[in-house]
Amino acid sequence: MALINFLKPKNQLEEGGRTAAPVVQQDEGEPEKKCPNCHKDIPVSRLWANSLVCSCGYHFRVKARYRIHMIADKGSFEELFGDVSSTNPLMFPGYQEKLETVHSVSGEAEAVVCGRAKVDGTDCCLFVMDPYFMMGSMGCAVGEKITLLFEYAAENRLPVVGFTVSGGARMQEGLLSLMQMA
Ligand SMILES: [Zn+2]
Repeated sequence: MALINFLKPKNQLEEGGRTAAPVVQQDEGEPEKKCPNCHKDIPVSRLWANSLVCSCGYHFRVKARYRIHMIADKGSFEELFGDVSSTNPLMFPGYQEKLETVHSVSGEAEAVVCGRAKVDGTDCCLFVMDPYFMMGSMGCAVGEKITLLFEYAAENRLPVVGFTVSGGARMQEGLLSLMQMA
């Protein structure tokens, strides 16, 4: 498993303060990303080497697949319920087009990726929300996938690890976004 600091010290007096970002050689002309917190330009390779955390402590958005790559044992992730995706139950104007655009830009069918994997050698189920798919918002399909995953986990007696990165309920599906798919 990749080394990730799950329990960050609450302040700099605990556990000797922050650890410095790993030093990565920057290639000339390498793309950089501006940190919205400290406004410094960070070489992309350094950002990736530090799990998308700036040295100032700012956490960049993490795509679902990259988060899975960070926590699951190499090659152990098997996606489940990948074919469940949103419809437009309320015929909300423009929603279908928006879904298609977001799908092609993010490469995801929905705002949550579910599956099973090993984490540090232990079998588990995983659900990871994707902030790049309509801000990880919850619609019928997201709820349905998470419900199916918990049912699968109960049947197979597996623990569930979830990363909720969500903008809340998806307004285009109204109250239905809080309910299971029919
Ligand atoms: Zn920063």
